Amino acid sequence: MNPPLPPGVEKVLFTEEQIRRRIAEVAAEVTEKYRGRNLKLIAVLKGSIFFLAALAREIEIPVKIDFLAISSFSSRGASGAVRIAKDLDESIDGEDVLLVEDIVDTGLTARYLLQTLAGRGPNSLSICTLLDRTSRRLVQVPVDFRCFEIPDRFVVGFGLDHKQLYRNLPVIAVMKP
Ligand code: 5GP
Repeated sequence: MNPPLPPGVEKVLFTEEQIRRRIAEVAAEVTEKYRGRNLKLIAVLKGSIFFLAALAREIEIPVKIDFLAISSFSSRGASGAVRIAKDLDESIDGEDVLLVEDIVDTGLTARYLLQTLAGRGPNSLSICTLLDRTSRRLVQVPVDFRCFEIPDRFVVGFGLDHKQLYRNLPVIAVMKP
């Protein structure tokens, strides 16, 4: 039985089962790439925490986890002005870092984070995103792992919010225009 969608939400894009299966596939790719290395998952608060938790559980090698928070000075990254509001707790010097993102849209946030983290001496730095919307990209960023490509519609659920609501929807859904 599917619970009813909240008002304002138009339709489900990906079901719980589709999300679970796809995350398991991507986690297997991550496991293979990083076997024998010092993997640290860095999640960007708050949108990425549901994805981080689901992904980390499926990865079959030991991982460390850290968080950072950013503030953007516009919604949907329109101006691209981003700064770190909460920094990592620990150094990433010499570690294999996987930046775990909810969505890469214009790419401005990801580019800023890659540039910032690259300056801290990681052994490697890659991106794993739940959602990718390449149709709105303004700057090129290397997306190493991605679960789903999505159309140009605003989505919520599985960590993604609308005015801080709907993060706890277990599905990924499109908002009504
Ligand atoms: P970018 O810097 O790539 O344009 O934007 C990344 C950030 O914009 C995401 O981390 C997310 O916070 C927000 N964002 C972009 N598209 C969507 C969307 O469709 N839904 C939600 N909830 N947030 C989005």
